[in-house]
Amino acid sequence: MMKLLASNLDLPFNADESALRLLIGAETRLPAESVGDIRIVRRSLDARDKNDIRFIYSAVFEVSDADYRKHSARFSKNVARAPEAPVIAPVTGDMPQPSPVAVIGAGPAGLFAAHTLAVRGYKVILIDRGRPIDERRRDVDTFWTEAKLDPESNVMFGEGGAGTFSDGKLTTRIKDPRADTVVETLVSFGAPQRIAVDAKPHVGTDVLRTVVRNMRGAIEEAGGEVRFSAKLTGVLTDDGRVTGIEINGSERIECCAAVLAIGQAASDTYRMLADMGLELAAKPFAVGVRIEHPQSFIDRSQFGRFAGHPRLGAAEYRLTARSGSRGVYTFCMCPGGFVVASSSSPGEVVTNGMSYAARDAENANSGIIVQVDPSDLGGEPFCCLEFREKMEKAAFRLGGGDYSAPAERAADFIEGSAPQPFSGVMPTYRPQAVPRDLRKCLPGTVHRGIKEGLAAFGRMIKGFDMGDAVLTAVESRTSSPVRIKRDENGEATRLKGLYPVGEGAGYAGGIVSAAVDGMKAAERIIALYKAE
Ligand SMILES: Cc1cc2nc3c(=O)[nH]c(=O)nc-3n(C[C@H](O)[C@H](O)[C@H](O)COP(=O)(O)OP(=O)(O)OC[C@H]3O[C@@H](n4cnc5c(N)ncnc54)[C@H](O)[C@@H]3O)c2cc1C
Repeated sequence: MMKLLASNLDLPFNADESALRLLIGAETRLPAESVGDIRIVRRSLDARDKNDIRFIYSAVFEVSDADYRKHSARFSKNVARAPEAPVIAPVTGDMPQPSPVAVIGAGPAGLFAAHTLAVRGYKVILIDRGRPIDERRRDVDTFWTEAKLDPESNVMFGEGGAGTFSDGKLTTRIKDPRADTVVETLVSFGAPQRIAVDAKPHVGTDVLRTVVRNMRGAIEEAGGEVRFSAKLTGVLTDDGRVTGIEINGSERIECCAAVLAIGQAASDTYRMLADMGLELAAKPFAVGVRIEHPQSFIDRSQFGRFAGHPRLGAAEYRLTARSGSRGVYTFCMCPGGFVVASSSSPGEVVTNGMSYAARDAENANSGIIVQVDPSDLGGEPFCCLEFREKMEKAAFRLGGGDYSAPAERAADFIEGSAPQPFSGVMPTYRPQAVPRDLRKCLPGTVHRGIKEGLAAFGRMIKGFDMGDAVLTAVESRTSSPVRIKRDENGEATRLKGLYPVGEGAGYAGGIVSAAVDGMKAAERIIALYKAE
């Protein structure tokens, strides 16, 4: 039997997918009985024509070798041999592993690094400063309802990392075969199978929590050790090489290598690393606000009269514009979701977005963010980090100093008039959002960039700049403001055996690319040692 791939098969969005068999018949001119089982491998939505919304499919099917020989000359250009899935089989090293690999941080980068090592029989210890997922969930709820922040267990810190309270979008721009492995692994731990097929897959925060819990179980079952409330406070070195880690200022653990997957919120850890002489640099990033609209408005803007159809789900958008030489763009759009308080240190207000798998809440939200370059701020390694901290503290003060977020109706933001009470669109940020003049917490360039962006986006989606839309400040954790420099082997430039990975190291942005980066570091360590 031979596996073939048929691409560019399009059907009206509400058609039965069994019609794909007819389309494959038309593309191959094979008799119906010659086409074996059909498996959809990619499905993307084409809503450019709102009167004719379609799904575009790629599907794999089998034909006999004899049929292939007989008919292949008549196949259309949309039919080709199905590509073999690349096998990622890391080369194993010769040295016995003298001590465990320490993985610091249980976000996507750390979890995938630890999992890659543990299932191949390597000794690994995974530590995270935060708490396990169920306790962390309670801590986050306490923050959202009572404004009591736990600086070690929150939306940024704890099992699953920053992505756990998110929409769980798995779109990525990186082209690495490991991205498929990441998706398959998430499915094996409880994510829905559709994420392996959808062109814009998302998991939802509710499902992600289960996935993360199951992945930890698999690491432990394979012999890995996982510890929470275990903060990296020091790195032990000898002659320019890592020999161990210090946890919580007291305990010391020997390790043969350390994967540093600390995410972008650990300002204290960044500063500790800089103090011990590691090479850090400021990195371009982007800051702004979260905007909320009624999801029904976004649905109508994208799907016209078909808005609300269950086969289409909640609509998304992605918009870009310019403010002078700066890019302004929407970021991490969460259909049918919530704006969430994402602070990780006392005295700062930070927003981000989250959806449940059903994406069925009333509001759509997304970041509107403006690019910031280190050269705007002097270029020192921590200039962007300090800029971010200043904005977050200003938002905290403007909100009243109790983790209320300053927010403003788009009409008042655009006109520069006194902020009015919210009406029409009610902000979803908890503990609460309060009407404030956002000029008091946003730098002038950022405020201007958002204003110009809103005007441009209003031309792209008519009504995007509606007066009732709510802007909540500040959206400041879009990517890392710092890069931990590493060499061509993935090790820190000034410390052998230390592998900075993921978003915090400045080499990934998003769940999938962070996970892939973690896997690559694990493979490099596997190439040095042999498992027991
Ligand atoms: C609310 C929200 C929504 C998001 N939505 C999406 C989305 O839909 N799709 C998407 O792709 N991305 C999303 N992101 C971004 C995504 O979460 C990150 O890109 C991703 O989690 C980065 O993975 P990471 O493993 O590099 O770091 P993180 O996930 O940040 O994990 C770092 C871990 O390190 C731990 N840590 C930090 N310092 C120390 C220390 N000193 N000692 C021990 N442990 C430490 C932290 O507790 C944390 O658990 C979202 C982020 C947020 C905050």
